[in-house]
Amino acid sequence: MQKIKMKTPLVEMDGDEMTRILWQKIKAVLIEPYVELKTEYYDLGLLSRNSTEDQITVDAANATNRLSVAVKCATITPNKQRMEEYPELTRMWKSPNGTIRSILDGTVFRTPIIIDPVKPVVKNWESPITIARHAYGDVYKAVDFATDEPGECRLIFKGRSGQVKDVLVQKVEGPAVWQGTHNLDSSIRSFAKACFSYALDLKQDLWFSAKDTIAKVYDGRFKAIFEEEFENYKADFEKAGIEYFYTLIDDAVARIVRGRGGIIWACKNYDGDVMSDMVSTAFGSLAMMTSVLVSPDGVWEYEAAHGTVTRHYYRYLNGEQVSTNPMATIFAWTGALRKRGELDGTDELVSFADRLEKACFDTLNSGVMTKDLAGLVEPGFKVDVADTDRFLKTVADRYEAIVIS
Ligand code: NAP
Ligand code: MG
Repeated sequence: MQKIKMKTPLVEMDGDEMTRILWQKIKAVLIEPYVELKTEYYDLGLLSRNSTEDQITVDAANATNRLSVAVKCATITPNKQRMEEYPELTRMWKSPNGTIRSILDGTVFRTPIIIDPVKPVVKNWESPITIARHAYGDVYKAVDFATDEPGECRLIFKGRSGQVKDVLVQKVEGPAVWQGTHNLDSSIRSFAKACFSYALDLKQDLWFSAKDTIAKVYDGRFKAIFEEEFENYKADFEKAGIEYFYTLIDDAVARIVRGRGGIIWACKNYDGDVMSDMVSTAFGSLAMMTSVLVSPDGVWEYEAAHGTVTRHYYRYLNGEQVSTNPMATIFAWTGALRKRGELDGTDELVSFADRLEKACFDTLNSGVMTKDLAGLVEPGFKVDVADTDRFLKTVADRYEAIVIS
């Protein structure tokens, strides 16, 4: 077979632990034999971030802005326990995903990979539901405190011009708790743009939900900015035959549960946090959840939604056979290669991504799957539990069968 050529490189961000091992295997077994892979490589493994004082993460994000498409492996976000595990760490480095997200000003879209043998808990869901979570502000940047005597709390804004806004929150006669939250027009606008451009990319309807009947000014502002931005996308939506609408969060929940899926659901920060766990659990498994960071200017960074699968890594280091599910990481690669192909006009790269994904589905539908999925299949479906290596090899065989046919 002749290898498929790439015009422009992808930004490749390597990562940690079991997913770093998967990364090598996926490239060696599923990509490099078929594609003359061109990447700009950035090692975002913890020790490389440490030795570059995290400059490597910033460089990788800037490269993504320049080249428009990136693929990222899961990475460790150090915590106290990791500081003990890796004594060479000079600092508790920030989450690379957070750093990249703020440089790209992006929104994260998460979509489950669904397969026939694993039915969603919600029986009427036929197609994936993508959740877009706004990742700035609200309760995640709130200040709060408790008081224990009668008194009053006020919300005061002092403008640089000298203008002051001062409102009474509440007068209380006893102990109480208080919270101040905010958001930024600029951040809401970027979120809206990313959602509209991603909906066009996927050719799927976009819903945005909030609670503007209660939070009239706060959520009302979100709704208004979405409406304003939509004016710039309206014609393209009509051309693509897709729809945007706003609805109350409670109505959205009811419609999602009764619907068939196949839509993008844009959520405020907290709603997105909660609803993405609900949707991913109802669809099956974190190991089958893909994730893409989309910037308002059309830059895409693909990854798996799961972490570095630490427990499997230590078993792997012990020489045990592991059955870690590589699906989400494979789909990060196919997502990035397909997007690269679309941007460069290299159709062979687009069909490579399509065929490799089909090979994955064929493999799973034939019953060959990793251990995590074996417990989720419908009763009566015959499973052949494979370790990671045999799973990848089976996908490669299936891919070759598709190419030859
Ligand atoms: P995790 O790596 O997602 O793993 C949690 C558990 O989920 C695993 O122990 C495993 O369960 C199961 N699992 C996840 N992915 C799987 C896969 N592909 N195949 C099979 N089973 C899978 O989450 P974590 O343990 O909370 O975090 C580990 C590290 O990942 C942390 O250092 C965290 O900072 C990092 N992290 C990175 C990202 C990212 O880069 N995007 C995201 C989240 C977490 P069993 O052990 O029961 O088989
Ligand atoms: Mg959560």
